[in-house]
Amino acid sequence: MAEASAQERLERVRAGIAEAARKAGRKAEEVTLVAVSKTFGAKAVRPLIAAGQRDFGENRVGEAAGKWPALREEAPDIRLHMVGRLQSNKAEEAAGLFDIIHSLDRMSLLKALAKAMDKLGRRPDCFIQLDLEGEPQKGGCAPGELPALLDAARDAGIRVVGLMCLPPLGQEAAPYFALLAKHARAHGLEGLSMGMSADHETAVMLGATHVRIGTALFGPRE
Ligand SMILES: *Cc1c(COP(=O)(O)O)cnc(C)c1O
Repeated sequence: MAEASAQERLERVRAGIAEAARKAGRKAEEVTLVAVSKTFGAKAVRPLIAAGQRDFGENRVGEAAGKWPALREEAPDIRLHMVGRLQSNKAEEAAGLFDIIHSLDRMSLLKALAKAMDKLGRRPDCFIQLDLEGEPQKGGCAPGELPALLDAARDAGIRVVGLMCLPPLGQEAAPYFALLAKHARAHGLEGLSMGMSADHETAVMLGATHVRIGTALFGPRE
């Protein structure tokens, strides 16, 4: 069987999202598909842009800085999402490059981002990443720290649009997605960044507004 083209893969993922949304009584338009292009170069990204994809995600500031400025000149309406762990010393570069940051997870990063945003006059929206399982190596703030982080974001003029999580590998993701949705509701947050290639349809059924998909669109990473 011939390998599916980028366009075919995109259509397949979009159809899966639409079907999951339909089952949950939601509209497909409520879900933003973020194509996570980490490790893939411009040559792999261009066919997706040509097929109409506009939201792209990266997990490293340096890689994104090398790849996206040129691609953005070809399609100025692209929205770039930072989905990986962000070091405070990269906050300024990230605030200048990304439109949405999914991985705000601690006070020191919040302060660095606020300072960078003030300096640049550019204020990307942020998701706060929650650590639902006590896995600090993956990033994410403990649920108990969320209220303080939300207050500090408000004081600093950082717009928090929702919550993000990375469920533990090899475990059923649904309970984590449901828990993230519960935390978001409790704080009046509408955005839910949850679901990757393997579990995004479940995430959409449980309320995801942003799914972050790499492998299903680009194929396996090296
Ligand atoms: C790589 C990555 C994804 C996409 O993962 P796939 O399983 O390839 O779809 C999503 N979110 C984050 C934070 C990632 O680093």
